Amino acid sequence: MSETEQKRIKASEMDPKFKYEIAKMHGGEKLMRCFQCGTCTSDCPIARFSETYRPRQIIRMAQLGLKERVLSSDTLWLCAACFTCTDRCPQDVEVASVIRVLRNLAAEKGYIPQVFKEQGSSILETGYAYKIPELRIKKRESLGLPPLPRGNPESIRKTLREVGFIKFIEKKGE
Ligand code: SF4
Ligand code: SF4
Repeated sequence: MSETEQKRIKASEMDPKFKYEIAKMHGGEKLMRCFQCGTCTSDCPIARFSETYRPRQIIRMAQLGLKERVLSSDTLWLCAACFTCTDRCPQDVEVASVIRVLRNLAAEKGYIPQVFKEQGSSILETGYAYKIPELRIKKRESLGLPPLPRGNPESIRKTLREVGFIKFIEKKGE
């Protein structure tokens, strides 16, 4: 499929109920106020360095009900949650919160990028988002540095199991 064909929107892709689904969630209430001025994109520090990440576009896709397209998009996960967009939106759209709502919906469908799944697995295993390589631990010892504090994965696992996090890590995209 060509890039143009991939971008072309088909009416069958649009779910008219999607915007109401988002608006029912905390932070998503003002989605429909967006009038596409582009302030969020022009002020977003991530959009400045990415050719594909455009919060304005994400908001529009959500308004149009392009559910699968927006939820399965990896760019959704580039947001740094700095809230600049929310602070600057002239329509009071909580852009960062809408993106959080979309991520939560994406996670429920199993659309979590592999890199975050791996971080999640590492937290479950060690209590840390990144596994500290053995080599680095040895290097610290050789330099006389104190050992790194140990994580408490048992306690973290218990909490994450309760909130249903583990099933998100294991789930594959629908
Ligand atoms: S700044 Fe607000 S109104 Fe403007 S495009 Fe972004 S969300 Fe829409
Ligand atoms: S919260 Fe996300 S979308 Fe908004 S400005 Fe920051 S990085 Fe960009």
